[in-house]
Amino acid sequence: MIIIVLGAPGTGKGTVAGLLQEKLGIKQVSTGDIFRKNIKERTEVGILAEKYITKGNLVPDDITIKIVEERLNEPDVINGAILDGFPRTIKQAEELDKILAVKGQKVDKVINLTTPDEEIIERIVNRRVCSNQECKAIYNILLNPPKIEGICDKCGSELVTRKDDTEETVKARLETYFIETNPLVEYYKNQGNLITELVSKSVNKLGKDVANEVVQILK
Ligand code: AMP
Repeated sequence: MIIIVLGAPGTGKGTVAGLLQEKLGIKQVSTGDIFRKNIKERTEVGILAEKYITKGNLVPDDITIKIVEERLNEPDVINGAILDGFPRTIKQAEELDKILAVKGQKVDKVINLTTPDEEIIERIVNRRVCSNQECKAIYNILLNPPKIEGICDKCGSELVTRKDDTEETVKARLETYFIETNPLVEYYKNQGNLITELVSKSVNKLGKDVANEVVQILK
């Protein structure tokens, strides 16, 4: 099964995709995580991607599509994947359809996460992530804090703030989202496989509540 988790930065894509991975036993594939790993390892892709990411811009389609195509050819995702942060442009969505068609697959469900704008910046500046690349657990120091400050509950590694989680970069990322990515909502609505979920403290709904709901819908 191919599931896409779509949404503006800070809506909880990584949290929902991580929980769906645990609950459904389907691997999460996050383009953001792949880029961050490449940046840390100073690969050619990483050095290039960093220039765009730190400005809050999208990494060019050709690079992004190539890394996803390669990732989807790996054996652990042969039967499906939860795509977190991909596609982010119409071009990426069209290319994804082609990549999947070759394998006899298609996009089965798209989970579109929405959060009121005023909550997004607050969520992002309070986000902390596990520095252990194998763990990558996500916390929010207000809404979902770790048991011990600065330490990951799951693996005991140090929690860090993502370099692109500054208020200034978030504004650029949100602008990029509305111009480049938001048209995908219509694209997938037309394909008839879109589920929209509100993630907001105003309705007492966090990523974990949404993940539970999605699992029920998929049953
Ligand atoms: P994320 O972890 O999904 O918030 O991604 C972090 C950053 O990586 C984004 O702000 C983009 O600069 C870049 N990125 C991640 N996924 C994509 C994508 N599908 N297309 C282009 N750039 C991406």
